Amino acid sequence: MSSSPPPALRILAPDEPSAFEVVNPDGRSSAVLLCDHASNAVPRSLPEIAMQHEALREHTGWDIGAARLSRRLSALLDAPLVLSGTSRLVIDCNRPLGSPSSIPVVSCGVPIPGNVITAEEAAARADECFWPYHHAITALLDARRDRRQPTAILSVHSFTPSMPGQERPWQAAILYGRDRRLAAPFIEALRREPGLCVGDNEPYRVSEGGDYGIPVHGEARGLPCVLLEIRQDGLLSAEGVEAWAQRLAAIYREIEASGLPGAAGA
Ligand SMILES: [Zn+2]
Repeated sequence: MSSSPPPALRILAPDEPSAFEVVNPDGRSSAVLLCDHASNAVPRSLPEIAMQHEALREHTGWDIGAARLSRRLSALLDAPLVLSGTSRLVIDCNRPLGSPSSIPVVSCGVPIPGNVITAEEAAARADECFWPYHHAITALLDARRDRRQPTAILSVHSFTPSMPGQERPWQAAILYGRDRRLAAPFIEALRREPGLCVGDNEPYRVSEGGDYGIPVHGEARGLPCVLLEIRQDGLLSAEGVEAWAQRLAAIYREIEASGLPGAAGA
């Protein structure tokens, strides 16, 4: 008699929200919005992580305000938007699989004991929480390519006002890797606004070892791409979100009107 294989690990129960959400998939804008850190939801199958209430409320769990900002931008621009559905503490959708911060055992100095797991458990999280989100983005971009629809990637994030030992003066940061086609005009336009301090690839920068969305969905396809980081204190109120959404949408329209080089992509 042959022994049957052990039951596969399941992360998301059938009644739990999906690992991703697509908003306005047929949007007519050239912009495609991504929100890798939209949610602080934790599946019931991971109670040790779900118990870390404080870490989940803070930046360790998600990008505060980023989902609201990206939904407003999607509406203002008529742009498709893909949002991740689980907390970055479960698996970080903007980190290469297997990298130390993909399933962090320590995040911003906070130990995450629920992330000391086997390779099989890590693979199950990737299968259910990482790949479905990225496959949704790939399908959306493939469909636009097949329609020959010009496309640029805007990845929407937020960052904390301070880190231990460092106050961050920037209200917004424009991050990029190899492709500055969108970053340069965004930085220029934001710096024209009085009183705004704008980070040029700081406090973070995009890299192939430390990021996933921009290198894979943008650079590898030859699509203009940029990562927009807004400081969280600017996104705590509905008015703050609205002001940033209006500002970023206006800048994008201006860039679009002046021509997006290579935006048809591969
Ligand atoms: Zn983020």
